Amino acid sequence: MSTTGIIFDIKRFAIHDGPGIRTTVFLKGCPLDCAWCHNPESRGREPEPRRGLGSRFHGSGEMIGVQATVNDVMDVVLKDRVFYDESGGGMTLSGGEPLLQREFAASLVQAARSLGVGTAVDTSGSVSWRHFEAVLPWTDLFLYDLKLADPAAHDEWVGGDHGMILSNLRRLVAADAAVRVRIPLIPGVTDTDDNLSSLSVILSGIGTIQAVDLLPYNPAGEHKADRLGIARRLPSIRTQSKEEMSRIQDHFSSLPVFIGGAP
Ligand code: SF4
Repeated sequence: MSTTGIIFDIKRFAIHDGPGIRTTVFLKGCPLDCAWCHNPESRGREPEPRRGLGSRFHGSGEMIGVQATVNDVMDVVLKDRVFYDESGGGMTLSGGEPLLQREFAASLVQAARSLGVGTAVDTSGSVSWRHFEAVLPWTDLFLYDLKLADPAAHDEWVGGDHGMILSNLRRLVAADAAVRVRIPLIPGVTDTDDNLSSLSVILSGIGTIQAVDLLPYNPAGEHKADRLGIARRLPSIRTQSKEEMSRIQDHFSSLPVFIGGAP
């Protein structure tokens, strides 16, 4: 019997979720509470009433999120195999926090690998290490979100277990996993000189990571939250200017840095 899980979207032809052309599978449920969440509909673990979004895998009728088997997901993923082969792409698991559904996530990357499809996992790191162990043997690349260096600020803006997030990152690197660290740049919160220099110190001492991806602020989450009727904790803010991006990039001069998602 094929393992099942709850997904809320599948995006084909994604180009910012790992190398090449990819299919990104969004698993439902996230233990964090980022003030700027770009996927507020992803946080609950179970399907929930729709409040204004639509696509095949948002679920039928009034619900966001649908139960799917590994075979259901693979049927979609395999449609674009020729593009993965040509571009070095594959399947990316995202969310939410995809590793929260540990068995389902592990079955998905295992199935993709056995079918010759590359695999990436986009994670907030906010799950216990055994969730990483479950996917590690079948994951080509981890896209690891890191937001704030200071535990008190992390508590205020993100929640979850800051120490566990850093510890998982260290363990992944120590296990020789391929890791790109992604830093979402939230104006006045994560893009301050203090935070970026502290993150840079942490990353410089952690071992070999493939790259640091600096993600300029994207106000899409604001619009989505408004449409869904979810109260926002941050006011409307603008994305970083070219000059600000250059200041931000300077903090990571000792590391390979990219602006935006993985190339
Ligand atoms: S980790 Fe991602 S999905 Fe979870 S609350 Fe933060 S932004 Fe939202």
